[in-house]
Amino acid sequence: MTTTVHRFAPRHLVCGFVSPYQVMQAGTLRLVKGRGIYVWDQHGRRYIDGLASLWNVAIGHGQPSIPRAVARQMQTIAYAPTLLGFSSQPAEELARRLVRLAPRGLTRVLFTSGGSEANESIIRLVRLYWRLKGHPEKYRIVTLNRGYHGSSTGAASLTGLPYFHEYYEPLLDGVLRLPRPHCNRCELRLEFPQCGLACADELERLIEREGAHSIGAVLAEPVQGVGGVIVPPDGYHQRLREICSRHDILLAYDEVITGFGRLGYPFGIQRWRVVPDLISFAKGVTSGYLPLGGVLLREEIYRTLVEAGPEFSLHHGFTYSGHPTVCAAALANLNLMRRRRLMSRARRLEPYFNELLQRLRRHPVVREVRAVGLMAAVEFHEHATHLGAGQWPFAVRVRQACLDRGLIVRASGEVIALCPPLIIKPAELRTLVELLDQAIAAVSAEASRTASNASRVNG
Ligand code: PLP
Repeated sequence: MTTTVHRFAPRHLVCGFVSPYQVMQAGTLRLVKGRGIYVWDQHGRRYIDGLASLWNVAIGHGQPSIPRAVARQMQTIAYAPTLLGFSSQPAEELARRLVRLAPRGLTRVLFTSGGSEANESIIRLVRLYWRLKGHPEKYRIVTLNRGYHGSSTGAASLTGLPYFHEYYEPLLDGVLRLPRPHCNRCELRLEFPQCGLACADELERLIEREGAHSIGAVLAEPVQGVGGVIVPPDGYHQRLREICSRHDILLAYDEVITGFGRLGYPFGIQRWRVVPDLISFAKGVTSGYLPLGGVLLREEIYRTLVEAGPEFSLHHGFTYSGHPTVCAAALANLNLMRRRRLMSRARRLEPYFNELLQRLRRHPVVREVRAVGLMAAVEFHEHATHLGAGQWPFAVRVRQACLDRGLIVRASGEVIALCPPLIIKPAELRTLVELLDQAIAAVSAEASRTASNASRVNG
């Protein structure tokens, strides 16, 4: 049974990634309650939170240990400024825990309030590091086409999605791009494995062209999230590591989505056993209960800052870097993840999730299904968008059909993205995929009805 979802236009609220015109016309859906993998709107309608809200609510909604830890911490002190060299027990303890979870050698943590600030910090740390090493010209950063790294000016410049640049130019100088490792739509028009990982080797070409002396770092997501859940082929990340090490270029991973169990490991890059020099993180570190992000740094990078001597100061950070209350929420989140073995759960559920999703390939409109850990994408054929000459792209119509059936997913381009909370049970995963299946069937049927009516009228 489907119900049309009713929305209300908020008078003063601005919503970031959606059309202001559409919000004025169609309004927003007010969410009032969440429990586990479910959220409820103001009409009492329940939805499966198929995107863990915004790829972040890993432990699910309404976990009581988080507000308990937050209330306890808030009663001790309002705030402590790490910017000025103060600290707090939760900030120290969280940094220690993160280092224990991270690949070996990443030993220091700079906290931020979210993922964009974390990537902004990577830009500044890369510049700082190479300048202190005596190579100020080594400030350029290589990122991947269609990667997403945030929407502050620096992070949006690193982002490789053109619609984050339109209207906002000029961007930050010194960002170079590589093709992304998307085998089914290879930008180099090659086939894996015969290509020999040519997309990774493009980094070598780029370095030859631009000069290693001008490139400070490569930044990539272990699996592109917003760009469409792009899972690189085996050996890709290892090849990037090898090329960066050979040319004395730092390798940074943006783990804002993939961190904290999403791919079945504390950090997604651990799946490929690659040790980066820097990692940015956010979202899953608090499961979205409070805003927090940060950067993990290799010891040698931090040593360089220390060796700059007593006159040198970082002059980088944010008022809320290492906020004690937020760090307490993160610690409670990590404790819950440890108790319930959530960091590795995605690895255990992956085969079943993938098996369920592959059934969606029976729909002629489905071009590809990609799944890794507990994140997935269902990609539609481009021609599907024109099916029935609907006002909206096919994926947007499917997202709406999912919403009408009580499932929240994300549509971007030709893709429906899925990223359920890590606590999801196998039976709930089955329901989630069944609802998506029904939505695709309904939109396909409606599209072919409209198309055949139109051809009757035109014919
Ligand atoms: N990096 C990645 C990979 C992301 O997916 C996001 C947000 O979705 C960001 C960075 C930006 O994080 P925030 O929105 O917390 O600034």
